Amino acid sequence: MTVHRQTDDQRPIVVWLRDDLRLDDNPALAEAADSGRPVVPLYVLDEESPDLRPIGGAHRWWLHHSLAAFARSLQKIGANLVLRRGKAAIEVPDVVNSVGAGALLFNRRYDQAGRAADQAVADALGDNVAVRGFTANILHKPERVATKTGGYYKVYTPFWKNVSEAEPRDPIDAPRSLHPAAKPPRSDTLDSWGLRPTNPDWSAGLASFWDIGEAAAHRRFAAFCDERLGTYDDGRDRMAIDATSRMSPHLRWGEISPYRLWHTATVRAAADEAVRPEALRTFRKELVWRDFSYHLLYHFGPLGSRNFNARFDRFPWETDSGVLRAWQKGQTGYPIVDAGMRQLWQTGWMHNRVRMIVGSFLTKDLLIDWRAGEAWFWDTLVDGDVASNSAQWQWIAGSGADAQPFFRIFNPVTQSEKFDPAGDYIRQYVPELKDLPASAIHAPWTAAAGKLEEAGVVLGETYPLPVVDHGKARDRALAAYRSVRG
Ligand code: FAD
Repeated sequence: MTVHRQTDDQRPIVVWLRDDLRLDDNPALAEAADSGRPVVPLYVLDEESPDLRPIGGAHRWWLHHSLAAFARSLQKIGANLVLRRGKAAIEVPDVVNSVGAGALLFNRRYDQAGRAADQAVADALGDNVAVRGFTANILHKPERVATKTGGYYKVYTPFWKNVSEAEPRDPIDAPRSLHPAAKPPRSDTLDSWGLRPTNPDWSAGLASFWDIGEAAAHRRFAAFCDERLGTYDDGRDRMAIDATSRMSPHLRWGEISPYRLWHTATVRAAADEAVRPEALRTFRKELVWRDFSYHLLYHFGPLGSRNFNARFDRFPWETDSGVLRAWQKGQTGYPIVDAGMRQLWQTGWMHNRVRMIVGSFLTKDLLIDWRAGEAWFWDTLVDGDVASNSAQWQWIAGSGADAQPFFRIFNPVTQSEKFDPAGDYIRQYVPELKDLPASAIHAPWTAAAGKLEEAGVVLGETYPLPVVDHGKARDRALAAYRSVRG
């Protein structure tokens, strides 16, 4: 992208915000504020640029509230958020021209369609407007991290080693004030976008689970550092306890920056002996998994639609819409899978360990193409992320970079026994099994008739029988995977 600098220019600056709905550590906004020039913050709901993936239903709900919170924060420091709906290459230049702006600043995105849309905007603006992109939403620029031979990393551990050599930069403080433009551009109203669900309004479960916006993200992260960071490495796989940061949707929408998380956790660990180095290291490694997903997305391109490992183009996926539906609705008869899928439906989020279990179940036990799982997650997750979702689905399916070996097929019952030993997570999301004892809850079809009866469970009536036999499904998956092994 062409970058022009005109230091004597006093024309307004348009800051085009996308997945960076925050004041804190927002390099594009900070640069605009520091210039002392009038600033016009702009958000474009772009459903028209070529190949740009439309956001999902849960995304739309989150975006509405996130934009509302962000607009309030901007207003407090002197600027009104301008909302436009339409193709970015039309709407952004229209706003730039209507305020006579001399510069357009934004924080970079890394997917092919997003980059193409940014380039189209820069091309449409021409040479009279300076265009500049900043690194804000990932810790390491993908073009800066290279293997010894100059290629990109396809395996996580050497990627981690490489990026561990340099600390990420310190976060940048939020601007205290912004000068508004003398002639504000036309703006849509947020309500006119109809982002919230109506008829039916399915958002009640999500609303009670989440606090949206920058201030809420900072509050939640501070509490995580106080209460859970110290034991993060031990607790993070236990789905029944609230042991992880739940920063993923805040990161997805950019309400908090990964630099802020890295920095705050590091400072906290240094000041608090109760935070073991291993806990901090594990947390940092997860943030870097996110970066690694962006690294793959940037270099590979169509990560959400094309097998990273082309051998999987020949994979004999099944197309049984009945079992796909059972999986989506949490009616597979495998309690841990059903609990996860219902947590997703009710809250827009799912615990990482359970994402792995349901992902393995879909692609290996049911032999359904990972793209169907990825699409369902994209529509129902509030954190559905253009890089992490695709990379992780390909990882679990075996088609991805540094993927699970094809023979690694999660057993949903032993996973459940190991990571939800008392069955509390299952009880929370599959209430029809809540009266079963821990000995029966992970695989109710193996329970003695008396135990089921006492708990009021009638298999096939109050709770489904398993849609597949895991042992047989495993053999079928191994045969299918062998056929593409090469
Ligand atoms: P924490 O454990 O507190 O981790 C802190 C942060 O590190 C997370 O917020 C996240 O940004 C990052 N992180 C943690 N684990 C991973 C991981 N495995 N890969 C990449 N980043 C990670 N994460 C998304 O943000 N969006 C997605 O769309 C998404 N889809 C997934 C699909 C599948 C099939 C799987 C197996 C994982 C997916 N993940 C996705 C990764 C992970 O499950 C979530 O990031 C995590 O559960 C979020 O919870 P948390 O914020 O409490 O995580």
